[in-house]
Amino acid sequence: MIPFLDLKRSNEPHQEAIQAATNRVLQSGWYILGEEVSAFERSFAHYCGTRHCIGVANGLDALTLVLKAWAFEPGSEVIVPSNAYIASVLSITLAGLTPVFVEPDPATYLLDPARIDAAVTARTKAILPVHLYGRCCAMTAINAVASAYDLLVLEDAAQAHGARYSGKRAGALGHAAGWSFYPSKNLGALGDAGAITTNDDDLADRLRALRNYGSAQKYVNDYVGVNSRLDELQAAILSAKLPRLDEENHRRRALAALYLNGIRQTSLRLPPADQVDQDVWHLFVVRHPRRELFRSYLRERGIGTDVHYPIAPHHQRAYHPFAHQSLPISEQLHEEVVSLPLNPTLTDADVAYIIDTVNSMRE
Ligand SMILES: *Cc1c(COP(=O)(O)O)cnc(C)c1O
Repeated sequence: MIPFLDLKRSNEPHQEAIQAATNRVLQSGWYILGEEVSAFERSFAHYCGTRHCIGVANGLDALTLVLKAWAFEPGSEVIVPSNAYIASVLSITLAGLTPVFVEPDPATYLLDPARIDAAVTARTKAILPVHLYGRCCAMTAINAVASAYDLLVLEDAAQAHGARYSGKRAGALGHAAGWSFYPSKNLGALGDAGAITTNDDDLADRLRALRNYGSAQKYVNDYVGVNSRLDELQAAILSAKLPRLDEENHRRRALAALYLNGIRQTSLRLPPADQVDQDVWHLFVVRHPRRELFRSYLRERGIGTDVHYPIAPHHQRAYHPFAHQSLPISEQLHEEVVSLPLNPTLTDADVAYIIDTVNSMRE
């Protein structure tokens, strides 16, 4: 049996470091916004190559708080890929803003810079590119459109810990970036956790206050804030795991290369292979025109798969006012995508078995 993901196994290589970290927090007697959060913020900012990192409670809050901190007029528009994860869209509406869906590049599944122009209106204030599946969006072109229209750029980097683009890391490619450390991400906590990275000093100050009731000084409230703090415990665990993130991403790349070189099944469409060593392969997503047939074939042979994601955001009941929009590239992607197992604890033999099984399927 090869499950799609086994989080217990994923954390086993970190067990000693995690136990030392949790003991340290227990013994410190300080559990909210202390030395562990500051230490993780320093090391993650350094890792990403940004001046600031602000720890928050989860990835959705990270994105939402940046959009709130930018204080656009209510109803302002934010451009977002139409095949985004629901959290990217939720952050926009939670901040009182309007999502404008732009179709992805069918070759990369990422926000297509060539389609942004046509979506810009007088109300557009920001672009929210999503580095989906661990690959950075075409940020040079996206930033060029943003500066032409004076828009701010918020990276959704929740699937791209360590991904590179043009000599920089994800998280340092726009005006700010939202991160999630949900347990299944490339850098995952043992619970909910998130962060924002940015080089903007003022924004960082505002976010530090906003995550803590809008207060920079105890019992003095400058903004209408929220409680979205990163725990000391999760911060300590993330600090324990961060030193091995590059090694784990390296392993993900090696496994992705095995898949890319080994899969011969012509009924499948493989993910783009042109920057294997820049991408961090959060997911290995293939496409099959009869997805459920393909998934049950693998399931019967002991291989777990998942779908990221089965329903386009504009087709979710929660977003029914957008249901009439025609977004054919996304609609087809949401029908065809399937994620094969890919995580650093898979063995070469596991992947060889998956490749053989995929290749021996008769179409
Ligand atoms: C996981 C994820 C989020 C949200 O993170 P949470 O910590 O679960 O709130 C946002 N965007 C993308 C692309 C994600 O994969």
